[in-house]
Amino acid sequence: MAITTSPRGTADVFGENLQNWLKLERQIRAICRTYGYQELRTPMFEHTELFQRGIGETTDIVEKEMYTFTDRGGRSITLRPEGTAPVVRAYLEHKMGQGPLPVKLFYLGPMFRYERPQAGRYRQFHQFGLEVLGSADPLLDVETILLPVELYKACGLKGFVVELNSIGCSVCRPRYREELKEYIRPHLNEMCRSCQGRFERNPLRLLDCKIESCRAVLADAPLITDYLCPECSQHFAQVRSYLDLLQVEYKLNPKLVRGFDYYTRTVFEVTFAGLGAQNAIGAGGRYDGLVEEVGGSPTPAVGFAVGVERLLLALESEGSFAAEPPRPAGFIVQFGGETKVRAAQLMYELRRAGLHVEMDHLDRSVRAQMKAANRMNARWVLILGEEELAAQQVKLKNMDLGTEELVDLDAVIQCMQVEEE
Ligand code: AMP
Repeated sequence: MAITTSPRGTADVFGENLQNWLKLERQIRAICRTYGYQELRTPMFEHTELFQRGIGETTDIVEKEMYTFTDRGGRSITLRPEGTAPVVRAYLEHKMGQGPLPVKLFYLGPMFRYERPQAGRYRQFHQFGLEVLGSADPLLDVETILLPVELYKACGLKGFVVELNSIGCSVCRPRYREELKEYIRPHLNEMCRSCQGRFERNPLRLLDCKIESCRAVLADAPLITDYLCPECSQHFAQVRSYLDLLQVEYKLNPKLVRGFDYYTRTVFEVTFAGLGAQNAIGAGGRYDGLVEEVGGSPTPAVGFAVGVERLLLALESEGSFAAEPPRPAGFIVQFGGETKVRAAQLMYELRRAGLHVEMDHLDRSVRAQMKAANRMNARWVLILGEEELAAQQVKLKNMDLGTEELVDLDAVIQCMQVEEE
């Protein structure tokens, strides 16, 4: 009978790949600690309305990518497609804004989007994200760019580029929106169906279209940066000057917009050319309007999210990140009968002392047990034969040095621990 496979666009993480994930997660937690971010774990699913209000009804995600279902109690539930709206919900629900500001949070976990799966694009994928709530300081926009850049560098990643833009605010963006629409309108029939569909409701997204004919139309389109109000303009200038001060390299891209409605002012994206079409390894920006949108009082905020799978693909392509495979401290080779009984006792004593020790469970020959120990790359092989057992000893073989010695059974732990340090 055919086996049931995992659903399209999902993956199992195990073996060497899992070691890389764990290594990356350790780096993430370390950098968050240094920068003062507390972890927040929100549920995998939320009320659908949170994303409708938070992300925006006209976005791809809300229009066609959400995993939404009605639960047995008749509520509309959605598997979280992104992490920001849930963080904002938790911030409001737990009145975090009444504590010291800004509130600096990070999350790490699976997100769900019904997209067409391809290399680097999945239906269940993982994001590491940061959110800073309660301050409009441009230095914090910079911090949410700096932190991922430092993370990429700490992982050894080289070929990434930070693209930066400001998309203004509710004061200056409407005028730009109208100018952009005026510019596009006469060429609308030269543009793709998706651009035509978005033109009225979300014209800024047209700047994002990858289709050649659409890009041609937009080549000379007006640029948002020429329309920023004095406050947004000053904020953007401060962001750039802090980036320069902190020597963060970036490229200005006045056509950079983001897929969510909630962004204001700073937006940025980090790309890695080696990944083909799905080349964004992280993205973020300021979202001063979102907290109010989901029912709170006006609260400035900024954040970003990194795609974990894509970052790992990028690191893999540069070949500099492979985690060391785990190595057992010891493997006990026994000769059956009483020696197996004593070996089992010894194995659990050693494990209790914190050493990873293995033994055979398939009644294998001594030769095959030695092979298994080698395959696992055990540091020590402990040979427990009839003679050794009679003398209450074990033969301890150092597999790295090729040396061996007879050691009293009750002194094995010390011998192995000394070497472990
Ligand atoms: P977004 O939440 O769309 O701004 O995405 C932030 C980051 O998450 C992107 O830069 C990608 O690295 C990653 N990402 C988004 N969608 C997917 C997906 N379907 N599969 C894998 N990674 C994704």
